[in-house]
Amino acid sequence: MYRTRAEQEIQSLIEKKNLSGIGMTSQRTRERLLGRLMDQGIDCMAVLDVIRSTPRHIFLDEALSHRAYEDVALPIGHNQTISQPYVVARMTEALFKSGSLDRVLEIGTGCGYQTAVISRLAGRVFTVERIKPLLDRAKKNLRLLKCRNVEFKHDDGSLGWSERGPYDAIITTAAPQHIPRELLGQLADGGRLIIPVGGDAGQELKLITREGDELHEQTLEMVRFVPLLSGQLQH
Ligand code: SAH
Repeated sequence: MYRTRAEQEIQSLIEKKNLSGIGMTSQRTRERLLGRLMDQGIDCMAVLDVIRSTPRHIFLDEALSHRAYEDVALPIGHNQTISQPYVVARMTEALFKSGSLDRVLEIGTGCGYQTAVISRLAGRVFTVERIKPLLDRAKKNLRLLKCRNVEFKHDDGSLGWSERGPYDAIITTAAPQHIPRELLGQLADGGRLIIPVGGDAGQELKLITREGDELHEQTLEMVRFVPLLSGQLQH
């Protein structure tokens, strides 16, 4: 059978990452994670279903993949982490429950786990990452999962992505000290921005809603994300 280079690459990734054959243990561990999310107050079935059907182990290096269904953030290299499932569920749920997800901007793609989750519930997702090798890895992961409604950009995401806006929802998965003005400026009327704000000691997860010229701010809970840094890295 003839296969293109891209298809061959995906096939070898599927085999390497064991996407097709997930063992019973793993299935049980995944159900346990779902129970934990529900215990912590995640009650949106659409979000829980997407978390259930998104294989988190493919986003991790093999050495860590056995911990993929623990409710913790884990290292992905370059001093960055894959987000904790509870936080991914919480942020996704807050955006899903509060309005349209037709056009979504994500800042901080990382390995693409949050991107994959939100892409299943959104019309189109635009995602920006400042570290090139992570963005490339995310592209491969999302191709593997057939998330075809995602566009990627290698850039400093604190500037947003104005050419593709305005957005119904903006999700930022790295924490600035102050909310970047550019992101607020790219919210559609009725649009929501969810963003952790603060320093290393911990941050407040904020949900900001634009209504006409007014912005309404809510603080959801304390979280801990890596910092939002300026500039971009090629390596
Ligand atoms: N969304 C990821 C979390 C990745 S951690 C997940 O689902 O697991 C946060 C990511 O934000 C890191 O990859 C980091 O490189 C990126 N980041 C930090 N500052 C950024 C900026 N100014 N623009 C774009 N990405 C940024």
